[in-house]
Amino acid sequence: MLNINHVRQQFPILTETVNGKPLVYFDNGATTQKPQRVIDAIVHYYTHQNSNIHRGVHALSRTATDAYELGRTAVQQFIGAKHAHEIIFTKGTTDSINLVANSFSRAFLKTGDEIIVSEMEHHSNFLPWQNLRDEKGIVLKVIPLTATQDLDIEAYKKLLSDKTRLVAVTQVSNTLGVINPVKEIIAEAKKYGAKVLLDGAQAVPHMKVDMQELDADFYAFSMHKVYGPTGMGVLYAKEELLQAMPPYQYGGGIIKSVTIGTSEWADLPNKFEAGTPNIEAGPATKAAIDFVNEIGIEAIAKHEHELLIYATKQLQAIQETEIYGNTANKAGVISFNIKKVHPFDTGTLLDQMGIAVRTGHHCTQPLMHCLGIPGTVRASFAVYNTIEEVDAFITGVKKAVKMLL
Ligand code: PMP
Repeated sequence: MLNINHVRQQFPILTETVNGKPLVYFDNGATTQKPQRVIDAIVHYYTHQNSNIHRGVHALSRTATDAYELGRTAVQQFIGAKHAHEIIFTKGTTDSINLVANSFSRAFLKTGDEIIVSEMEHHSNFLPWQNLRDEKGIVLKVIPLTATQDLDIEAYKKLLSDKTRLVAVTQVSNTLGVINPVKEIIAEAKKYGAKVLLDGAQAVPHMKVDMQELDADFYAFSMHKVYGPTGMGVLYAKEELLQAMPPYQYGGGIIKSVTIGTSEWADLPNKFEAGTPNIEAGPATKAAIDFVNEIGIEAIAKHEHELLIYATKQLQAIQETEIYGNTANKAGVISFNIKKVHPFDTGTLLDQMGIAVRTGHHCTQPLMHCLGIPGTVRASFAVYNTIEEVDAFITGVKKAVKMLL
């Protein structure tokens, strides 16, 4: 059983008030709050460990390097990667996907090759491929959605061809919460020898992900959505792919040797980590993963699912609301509108009641075009949210209905 009081006590920000009301933070899809141990890890780093990593022989540099690399090992174990050097640290999901688009395309793509994405992608997993289409003459194909806003898997199968080189889809939709059948997507892609990149930004915080079980070629996520620091992203990729791909950025840290004539690249993961990274995010990442492991990702998923079911039921009972993503298989995200009301107006009223939700297109404009709406109000849950907070949110929505309709 999840001890919700114990969980909440670890998040200092949850005692804040907003507009004189206790903060109800339902914007976890954008970023989660940080437990004390993550904040402490950052303070500890700057108080006791600060030094540049990897190239120093002095003690402090070795300490900082070890602290940073412990973050990598924690991520490796957390997502079940075979090797720590298959974990590339980036700035975030966006950076990870751009790394693949840039480097994989130079190694493996030529004009006329095909990439498949879906209609529900975050712009971070859409624009890099759209750009490749325009710059390199790659053909970009888009998986449509069904009436329940699931991916249309039959349509996907028809889009695959011998020219498909990459399928890049999200595991969980940030706007709808829909969990996609990624194992089936990967199995179908493999029939054509295509590689698969999963955007795991909204999956890793909510469910167990295991690289051996999934067998994705690339997997991207951001630590700041998993109770960890901003500026720390992960690109997991299979070793043989990383070996075959060229660096994505050039500079210090990525080389074995440099002469005026040529350069030899460093071993993995350094080949893809040019320049001084966000060093304090290494120990903070480990602290965040320790936090999740201590509770257990399954217990987190169960708790969030209970909140989702409860909130959905309450919201459905308000006739003036419309919920998007009406499928059974969802993570803790609920997207809705009060009919005929702009989402900004609903969000602004909820904010006055201390309730933080996200409003707008959620960086998924193609999905908004598909749904024929300008945006939604999105409540996204984390382990520290409570049924009482959902009640406050529902009361807020009812007030908003009265005031806005
Ligand atoms: N993909 C998805 C599904 C997301 O939810 C987000 C964050 N909203 C991103 C990519 C981008 O993540 P970041 O801003 O951390 O790079």
